[in-house]
Amino acid sequence: MKWVNHEIVTGVIVFGATGDPLAAVFSMAGAILPDKVEGRPGADYWSWRARHRGWSHWPVIYIAIYAIMQLGLLPHGADVERGISFLAIGALLHIAEDAVCGKVPFLLPWQKVGVRLFKVGSVAEYLFSMAVVILTYIIHAQSMVK
Ligand SMILES: [Zn+2]
Repeated sequence: MKWVNHEIVTGVIVFGATGDPLAAVFSMAGAILPDKVEGRPGADYWSWRARHRGWSHWPVIYIAIYAIMQLGLLPHGADVERGISFLAIGALLHIAEDAVCGKVPFLLPWQKVGVRLFKVGSVAEYLFSMAVVILTYIIHAQSMVK
């Protein structure tokens, strides 16, 4: 999935779930984190390609970061822990979003799972992203009615 769609889909889902703009901003930063830590393809494309969607896309790392943040170990660090928690959530959503247009690691970093609903950057990807946004809006609107 393109970064712009990662940002939109992740930001909308987190804002829909929390109603907190700051949480949405942190999750949007996290939404490109797994790709950012891989670095740019650069001179050695095949070396980058081999690492692509490897460790950086292993959900267990981000679940662990999230879990550690829930322990509240940082003194007076509640805001920091909340920020890092939403970074981790953003990264997890990124991985889930990648899993619908290719394969990502799951329980083990080398064991990849996923479906290919569309090609990265295709019209279908934009339609999929729009559908998620609309669905989130509908779910959010219904939760407001109750
Ligand atoms: Zn990715």
